[in-house]
Amino acid sequence: MTTDVVIIGCGPAGLQAGIHSSRKKASTVIIGKLQNSALHGAHIENYFGISGSADGSDLLEKGMEQALSFGCRHIGMNVTAAAKEGDLFRVTTESGEEIVCRSVIIATGISRKKLNIPGEKEFLGKGVSYCAECDCNFYKGLRVAVIGDESKAAVSSELMTRYASEVYWVSERILADGRLVDKASGAGVKIITGTPKEVRGKANVESLLLTGGPEIGVDGVFIELGGKSSSDLALDLGVMPETDDTLKVNNSFETSVRGVFACGDITGEPWQLAKAVGEGAAAGHYAAKRAKDMK
Ligand SMILES: Cc1cc2nc3c(=O)[nH]c(=O)nc-3n(C[C@H](O)[C@H](O)[C@H](O)COP(=O)(O)OP(=O)(O)OC[C@H]3O[C@@H](n4cnc5c(N)ncnc54)[C@H](O)[C@@H]3O)c2cc1C
Repeated sequence: MTTDVVIIGCGPAGLQAGIHSSRKKASTVIIGKLQNSALHGAHIENYFGISGSADGSDLLEKGMEQALSFGCRHIGMNVTAAAKEGDLFRVTTESGEEIVCRSVIIATGISRKKLNIPGEKEFLGKGVSYCAECDCNFYKGLRVAVIGDESKAAVSSELMTRYASEVYWVSERILADGRLVDKASGAGVKIITGTPKEVRGKANVESLLLTGGPEIGVDGVFIELGGKSSSDLALDLGVMPETDDTLKVNNSFETSVRGVFACGDITGEPWQLAKAVGEGAAAGHYAAKRAKDMK
């Protein structure tokens, strides 16, 4: 089967790319599992047009319905291989189905690094978060711990002082830029050297236990260890990821390989819904245009 556009990933970036691509009458296949999107289970407050908080899973389902209504085909599987064949691309799903396309869009997001300690998974969404920028507003007047060694943790700690009553920054060894560390300290962040051992609580997070103590009483734990992208598929297609694993794109959201586009979290920070959707729209538009120009 040959199609105009294949989109790998069905988070907000991939779905918006599908909507724009199929609206331009390009035959479009979106491949991926809706429930694996970072948006699944998130509560969104800072997206255009939302009053109060929107359920990320609802947004994904509506986005999928919209994409299908414009003619996209959806395959709810992972892509296991991709290859460049002349001016075309061959994408293979986990069931072995092969699709040849004129343009391919990589919208595979990033997976946030985990601590892998007891309580981390159990309290996800009940006090454990991987995104201070996203969830800060839910912790007004509460006590939080931010975990991480790099600049991202310093920035998140300082940000949380504008919402939380107390902010602890837990780091094994601070590797953040000195100016950011000073800014966080100046804003009232209490820096604790230690290794997180367990997130504890009943219905919600109540404390963070460090190896060898102490146990810090907190209502929220922000794990800010950065993220990693699924860039192996990009390598298969001849696109070399940046040193931080992101994919570099031009103004048309095309990578260094003609016909391979990328959008959403995989192109870099800020890891936010609005950026993912905006980039998806542009990538879908240009991928469809390239496919049509080839005919
Ligand atoms: C807990 C949490 C709260 C958040 N809150 C907010 C918020 O309040 N406001 C905000 O703006 N943003 C928020 N975000 C960030 C937002 O969800 C992301 O920026 C957005 O989802 C990125 O979209 P994306 O499409 O690039 O990636 P994702 O949504 O992660 O989607 C990537 C898709 O690619 C698929 N995929 C990966 N590899 C493959 C493969 N090999 N084959 C097929 N498919 C593949 C995945 O299954 C997934 O469907 C939050 C994120 C989290 C985790």
